[in-house]
Amino acid sequence: MRIISISQEECIEMLQRVSIGRLACSLNDQPYIVPVAFSYEPNCLYFFSTLGKKIEWMRQNPKVCLQADEIGNRSNWTSVIVTGTYLELREPQYTDEREHAQKLLAQHSRYWQNPLAERREQTSDLSIELVFFRIDIASISGLRAMPEGV
Ligand SMILES: Cc1cc2nc3c(=O)[nH]c(=O)nc-3n(C[C@H](O)[C@H](O)[C@H](O)COP(=O)(O)OP(=O)(O)OC[C@H]3O[C@@H](n4cnc5c(N)ncnc54)[C@H](O)[C@@H]3O)c2cc1C
Repeated sequence: MRIISISQEECIEMLQRVSIGRLACSLNDQPYIVPVAFSYEPNCLYFFSTLGKKIEWMRQNPKVCLQADEIGNRSNWTSVIVTGTYLELREPQYTDEREHAQKLLAQHSRYWQNPLAERREQTSDLSIELVFFRIDIASISGLRAMPEGV
């Protein structure tokens, strides 16, 4: 098996193809990571969430990291890591960006399903706070593994 770095263009192509990644944040030296849906646009990623631990943590420490991958098998995969800064798209300051995020995320069907279903187990619909946010990208790197001889 060979593992090679891939170009920024290849990383971006993968971020455009996949819609699920693992979003990592941290607070007081404690990392926290959850799977989330996202939508790529040049220089940023858009997300939808309900209010919970990750949002509370990112509000306090906006430095975050996202990892996404396409895994064929253990010797055939691509993995991309993005670092960046959390920006919450609150109204009214970010109304346009919030609508834009909603449109982009809607290209992947039912983006709201996971976060809402989880929160509905815990609370009533009326008290659920909906959060759209953006990660402004600072860096992107990618690795690809391939079987020997390819
Ligand atoms: C395929 C997929 C797509 C998803 N897409 C989204 C999305 O787009 N937006 C979104 O907000 N959420 C999404 N989720 C759910 C997400 O992974 C979190 O579970 C959810 O957002 C709650 O996170 P929170 O920090 O608000 O948790 P809280 O409800 O505040 O969590 C409290 C505690 O529950 C535990 N917990 C929370 N989430 C998980 C988890 N996933 N696995 C194990 N333990 C957990 C942790 O121990 C945490 O401390 C998705 C999940 C999957 C599997």
